Amino acid sequence: MLAKVAHLTQWIEERAPQRLAEDWDNPGLMWGHPQNDVRHVLLAVDGTDAVLEEAVRKGAGLVVLHHPSLWKDVKQLRTDQALGRRVELCLRHGVAVYAAHTNYDAAADGVSDSLARRLGLNDVQVLDVTARDRLQKLVVFVPRGHEDDVRQALAAAGAGWIGKYSHCSFQVDGTGTFLPREGADPFIGAVGKLERVDEVRLETVVTASISRRVVAAMLRAHPYEEVAYDLIPLDNEAPAFGAGRVGSLAYALPLEELARLVKEACRVPALRLVGDLNRPVTRVAVCGGDGGDLLQAASHAGADVLVTGDLDHHQALEALDLGLMVVDAGHFGTEWPGMADLSEWLNSRLEAGGYQTRCELAESGRDPFQFV
Ligand SMILES: [Zn+2]
Repeated sequence: MLAKVAHLTQWIEERAPQRLAEDWDNPGLMWGHPQNDVRHVLLAVDGTDAVLEEAVRKGAGLVVLHHPSLWKDVKQLRTDQALGRRVELCLRHGVAVYAAHTNYDAAADGVSDSLARRLGLNDVQVLDVTARDRLQKLVVFVPRGHEDDVRQALAAAGAGWIGKYSHCSFQVDGTGTFLPREGADPFIGAVGKLERVDEVRLETVVTASISRRVVAAMLRAHPYEEVAYDLIPLDNEAPAFGAGRVGSLAYALPLEELARLVKEACRVPALRLVGDLNRPVTRVAVCGGDGGDLLQAASHAGADVLVTGDLDHHQALEALDLGLMVVDAGHFGTEWPGMADLSEWLNSRLEAGGYQTRCELAESGRDPFQFV
């Protein structure tokens, strides 16, 4: 069984919802048919000629990019120019192109989380919070004996997470009553007869962004025709989304040593540093791509250093003024790890779903800069 373009894009959007994208951004399906079957998927930072030609050569039906190929102001598609030529090549060979951009930067387990993980950072938090989810309490009444099925369905759909703990729930026994009316088809009892049933009140916590999906999964697993449940808004602090991450190394390293770690993690032959090479670093802010506008946020978060790309001259001076060190490993170097992780994650979902479709990072996805 092959996955369709729409399966893959829907999974990506569960992880990186489009509502988290910046207003100026244009994530989503750039071109192609959502219902096309896909055997092979390539992932890359940019939809360059080399990447799209690799997709054609390998028979990939979908290319997942970080940077969108199309922007909202496109008015022409001339095939004598780069964009038109790429669209023509892809459509002729059935290659759909999709982009997960600032939504994937902001999402939980986004681009900067991949960087943080490769640097071994602990207690990683969002550096610049731009959005917060809302928490809800989901309470459902289940006839005794069916509570484990319902609990399992809730957990599988993503409910019940508190920090690093999944499957969090609470249950208490009680008695439910109902009177099936004309036209009802009760799982227990009979029409016109008041029923008293041993039930379990099962409660868990869910983020509002996935609560519809969780309720749908709960209803599928619940034996009753009409399910009694409550979805209650909570004031508890909910997971944050936004740009950059900040975390701590297990032990202090001199800036020069951290730079070596970053070179390995980002597989870059060289990088630029701002700051004293011998100064110790413990708290590290990271931002895949262009994180030069997060200098203040990194400084406020107590970071010793910001690892990012695309720092310009004036930002380097500003970092010095702030007493913040910077490791600039380039835009590409700090973003490709996120695409590698997304590829791995999609493969595990495809495998779990019994699909033969497989993803890989494009071999021809490269940094446009060379070092001499
Ligand atoms: Zn970028």
